[in-house]
Amino acid sequence: MLKLAQKPGSQKPSSDATPMIAQFLAIKAANPDCLLFYRMGDFYELFFEDAEIASKALGIVLTKRGKFEGNDIPMCGVPIMRSDDYLQKLIGLGHRVAVCEQVEDPIEAKKRGAKSVVKRDVIRLVTPGTITEDQLLEPRRASCFVALARQRLSDESWSYALATVDISTGAFHIGECADMALLAELARLEPREVVISEALNADAALKGMFSDLSLPATAVAFTGEIELSTRKLCAYYGVSTLEGFGALSRAQIAACALALTYVEKTQFGSKPLLSAPVQASAGGVLHIDAATRASLELTRRLSGERDGSLVACIDTTITALGARLLAEHLSGPLTDLAKITARQDAVSWFKDDVAAREDVRKALKHMPDMVRALSRLALERGGPRDLAAIHEGLLAARAVAQRINGAELPRDLQDAVVAAQSADQALAAHLGALLHPELPLNKRDGGFVAEGFDPGLDELRTLRDESRRVIAGMQAEYVDLTQCRQLRVKYNHFLGYFVEVPQTFGERMVQPPLNATFIHRQTMADAMRFTTTNLAEMDAKIASAADKALGLELRHFDEAVARILAAGADIRAASAAMAAIDVAAALAEVAANLGWVRPKLRGDTAFSIQGGRHPVVEAALKAKGQSFVANHCDLSAGVENSVALVTGPNMAGKSTYLRQNALMVILAQMGSFVPADHAEIGIVDKLFSRVGAADDLARGRSTFMVEMVETAAILNQATPQSLVILDEIGRGTATYDGLSIAWASLEHLHDTNRCRTLFATHFHELTKLQGSLKHLTNLTMRVTEWNGDVVFLHEVIAGAANRSYGIQVAKLAGLPRAVIERADELLGELEAGKGKDIDEMLDDLPLFSMRGAPKAPPKPSGPDPLYEALKRMDPDELTPRGALEALYVLKKLL
Ligand code: ATP
Repeated sequence: MLKLAQKPGSQKPSSDATPMIAQFLAIKAANPDCLLFYRMGDFYELFFEDAEIASKALGIVLTKRGKFEGNDIPMCGVPIMRSDDYLQKLIGLGHRVAVCEQVEDPIEAKKRGAKSVVKRDVIRLVTPGTITEDQLLEPRRASCFVALARQRLSDESWSYALATVDISTGAFHIGECADMALLAELARLEPREVVISEALNADAALKGMFSDLSLPATAVAFTGEIELSTRKLCAYYGVSTLEGFGALSRAQIAACALALTYVEKTQFGSKPLLSAPVQASAGGVLHIDAATRASLELTRRLSGERDGSLVACIDTTITALGARLLAEHLSGPLTDLAKITARQDAVSWFKDDVAAREDVRKALKHMPDMVRALSRLALERGGPRDLAAIHEGLLAARAVAQRINGAELPRDLQDAVVAAQSADQALAAHLGALLHPELPLNKRDGGFVAEGFDPGLDELRTLRDESRRVIAGMQAEYVDLTQCRQLRVKYNHFLGYFVEVPQTFGERMVQPPLNATFIHRQTMADAMRFTTTNLAEMDAKIASAADKALGLELRHFDEAVARILAAGADIRAASAAMAAIDVAAALAEVAANLGWVRPKLRGDTAFSIQGGRHPVVEAALKAKGQSFVANHCDLSAGVENSVALVTGPNMAGKSTYLRQNALMVILAQMGSFVPADHAEIGIVDKLFSRVGAADDLARGRSTFMVEMVETAAILNQATPQSLVILDEIGRGTATYDGLSIAWASLEHLHDTNRCRTLFATHFHELTKLQGSLKHLTNLTMRVTEWNGDVVFLHEVIAGAANRSYGIQVAKLAGLPRAVIERADELLGELEAGKGKDIDEMLDDLPLFSMRGAPKAPPKPSGPDPLYEALKRMDPDELTPRGALEALYVLKKLL
């Protein structure tokens, strides 16, 4: 098998390659890390290993075409019409695709000789992080790539600069972090692709990190040299100095230049309308590491889907712009009190003014994805519908701004109104007059300019349409002349307009007198085709009118695009304003509908939640007609209770309680209201959550190792301003080892980190620490027993649990009855012997299999007869007497 995916240029076309395969190999060698979509007629064909990869990934048939070096050449193809669907699938799987088109007219190729191939070249690389087409993008999710560069700080540490570019919207951000925080930053930004220099690509630790995040990494030949990087940035933005971009570090300049290099490499001369790099304010974002982010299921569940995540629960935004901004806010809650308060003010305003909220949300329904349309137009990939998106977007922005303008608005909304109103309304009017109500997808199809916009165009169209009518009249004339009723005037691209008659009749038309009028053009299986001088004249007239009309339309298109691009910054600002308004109104809607309150954020380390709920669990229970039990949480550090130790049975709601308080911080600091009756939160700098355990076998880490690595990260990084949620540490090892680790960790959090902490455990022994650790309080989950079964009340109360009810939970889970009975028996024995040495107890227990006689075989664990009898009964069918008898039967079965 020919391997093509390795080194560029490694495949020299051999002498037995056909000219076409030789061309394919040459282009493939220049794009070795991409699947090559090679244009042939109405298909993109893939060859060799690419064909094998694509046929497997896309589930399409693998065929062969010709031979190379004595072997069949594998081939598969995708029709152009459906290529976007296939591209989407390949990109989703992390592949990169080089789209190779014919770049000359086949007639030109023919001039070079019969066997010469049409010139082809790659016109674009489609990669996960650089797509712009609507069909390939998820509307409500940002689509960016991160270019990474680093700078050595000391022998052991690096500083990483991250340039984040979303080509689909033109957003460009630059930030920097320490190497410790890189994973967390990448997890926050959720890029679709990371771009690095070839030098960084050799770093195994980085590669491991990318694969942990399932992040496709692309290496680019790039030196990072400061002079070159600076020049590249200056050239892109047409500036002579970078001073206008704020103080950029060397690593940041290199990362920005790497990002631009990648843009050029993938876009082949098309220049996206990128904003100047915006600096992320250092330390302005709540630190959430990757493990915490995953465990709290912020933007997707542990299983990967969006449904059931926090964002899915709170996203009631109307527009795709708003949805993307909401996800961005959720992924990066703030730590700056003033900024959070400003966002809260906007939400409050919309919550209080119900009518404004409803009107604005209604108006936002007309707001298309203006900013993505703008980017496509800048990349010369846009169509008439993108012009329409700008038109509708400008109108919707004005309508939204007008609805709330004049009211006493909080600062963020005032800014949004100003931005929305600065959008060019003359441009909107121009586009309104220009565009036809029904628009084709491609500008080359024509017909998108409205009647009345350009009299010259209208004239050409009339001429074209008149001529068509004349041609229709000609058919009747020719039928009269030939007396052939089956005669038709038809059209195709090859012949233009022609006369078609059945074969038998055609024979007469090549004879006099008819051959004086009809000129033979083509003989088909059962028909003959002719033209006439008049028809050819009309055809030429129509073609020239249609060509001229299309030419005029395209000129109007280009003019409109030029005006749009000139107003690009205002359009982008208006889009951002609409997104901000959408998010504020959506969060107000959630707060109003679900009874959330505005949290009071403070500069200290308070943490007091009254009647808190877990938004996702509450919604899930509500869907089942059940209600959520609200709980308080008070961890006001520095006072008695900064650390709460939560004990309680399995399934009692400990994890839910822990997570709901972590989510409260995220919601509060992103500017949202929170699911509680009252909340006061001292701004948290870092949020850590270790909930549950997962193997990371791919990286050679056992469940326990993962648990310890994550715990280490928390104990090393949490500060007095942090909030730590720890659920069950030390469960993955022997009892005493686990207990010791949990104990020592709790002491460390209490004495050294001194952070607000919720610590859930089944090691009930730890509750005794309340006496010795000053800031520790014990909390437990209230349960009650009923008929031998445990009933969870999901209520958090002060105190300590004395047992875990594990066996009852096992029973609920459906463990065989024999196992439950035996476990109960053993528990009784073990509890009776509490305090004794375990080996001594094993010796004492005659029933333990390794010592005493085997126990009589337990009852078979078949279906419960009582349950089966009850299932069979239909109360509606029972007479009063029958019901009484049934009761006796049931009693006997007990
Ligand atoms: P384990 O120790 O086994 O991990 P747990 O104590 O952490 O269990 P959770 O996983 O938090 O228990 O909760 C179990 C289930 O109880 C949840 O899936 C939810 O359906 C329900 N639940 C939890 N908290 C509440 C609550 N406050 N109100 C109503 N139902 C709740």
